[in-house]
Amino acid sequence: MSLEQSVIFDERKDQIHRKGDAPFTMGCNRESLAGAVSQRACVFCGSRVVLYPIADAVHLVHGPIGCASYTWDIRGALSSGPALHRLSFSTDLQEKDVIFGGEEKLYKALVELIDRHAPAAAFVYSTCIVGIIGDDLNAVCARVSREKGIPVLPVQSEGFKGNKRSGYHAACKAMFQLMGKGSTEGISPLSVNLLGDFNLAGEIWIIREYFRQMGIETVANITGDGRVADIRRAHGAALNVVQCSGATMDLAKMMQETFGTPFLRVSYFGVEDMAESLYAVARFFLQRDPAIMDRTRALVREELAVLYPRLQEYRRALEGKKAAIYVGGAFKAFSLVKAFRLLGMQVVLAGSQTGTEEDYQELYEITDEGTIIVDDSNPLELSSFLKEKDVDIFVGGVKERPIAYKLGVGFCDHNHERKEPLEGFVGMLNFAKEVHSSVMSPVWRFVPRSIHRGKEPAFTESLFKAGAECRPN
Ligand code: SF4
Repeated sequence: MSLEQSVIFDERKDQIHRKGDAPFTMGCNRESLAGAVSQRACVFCGSRVVLYPIADAVHLVHGPIGCASYTWDIRGALSSGPALHRLSFSTDLQEKDVIFGGEEKLYKALVELIDRHAPAAAFVYSTCIVGIIGDDLNAVCARVSREKGIPVLPVQSEGFKGNKRSGYHAACKAMFQLMGKGSTEGISPLSVNLLGDFNLAGEIWIIREYFRQMGIETVANITGDGRVADIRRAHGAALNVVQCSGATMDLAKMMQETFGTPFLRVSYFGVEDMAESLYAVARFFLQRDPAIMDRTRALVREELAVLYPRLQEYRRALEGKKAAIYVGGAFKAFSLVKAFRLLGMQVVLAGSQTGTEEDYQELYEITDEGTIIVDDSNPLELSSFLKEKDVDIFVGGVKERPIAYKLGVGFCDHNHERKEPLEGFVGMLNFAKEVHSSVMSPVWRFVPRSIHRGKEPAFTESLFKAGAECRPN
């Protein structure tokens, strides 16, 4: 029985493409197939990951406690100041609230939290059950906002009403309500907002520093290490620089429509994309500051002089190894394909949870013949692809980690739980180090996959013998 017959549902066949097998078409941007056990998160989770790094706001999950625990501290988003985002608040809806309604409980929870923590704003997330019982979030939030004098913003993120991408949209709509409210006085004509960077392991600080060296002011971090006051004056920035196209592109479009703020799509992962992102921003400001390109070139040159010799060492060890990528947004996959190529590695599987037709077309163009391209995959498919392609490392997020480890494959967390920054030039070096230590780790000699492949049989046998000798009689 072929792989397609054994693990791929008929309804999903057009969401998987093997480059070189047929003319490229890709089914995507649709609801997940019921029963296929998609790797996608729910709408609520999508909105929470976008808004959560706003560190001086209260984030209150209106729903059963399970929803709050599902997303608590979901990302390692660091803050340089307040850390309210690290606390997870829930109205903990019970059976009685489901029957009689949870509005009063929500009101009391909001009042208590605002009194206790004095946040700059509050976000209230709607969950599945709230959508079902019909609590009027807007009315409660408006009442508390009036009484307490801070923005209290409902996030219409009922888990069942779409996929993670709908959650991004709900988050952008909620955040947009803050915009245009703060003073833009004193903002430099060379200024940007950083959209779609969540400051995992302090990454946004690296990027802000690059822009500072180029002479550019960062007005608002949206949303890593985010502050409500900055978001309120974000409409005063000259340009929106948008990473992770899925999460905050809707916000960039709303800002363009309402305030006329142009935007650029960028990626800070890998050498090529990081350098090109800086050059693209420099080109945008070239007329206002003709010297900006020279400063940018000098910055890139200096960083590469340190980075390249060290990358070559890793490349020598990793040349010819195989990698698989399955990430949330396809934009990250583009950068990863290029980053692996720089390390001499071959990407044999590339997929995303929320890619669009244009995203997959681009992925198709930059990948090698034979690469499997997949949209909205599930554990069964991913496991089969990893086995078929016999990969050395799998790059994904928290839900992909167990798939890799169960198969005895190296794993690189490029999402929620990473502790090392992977953005910027220094991030590329960290990435190379991590890939190298995972792929070359001796631990893989002990797992069934290597034994099946017939790798290191002598070593494995000697290990078993050594184990036998150590056993007590
Ligand atoms: S919002 Fe719904 S789908 Fe999301 S975690 Fe809560 S119950 Fe689950």
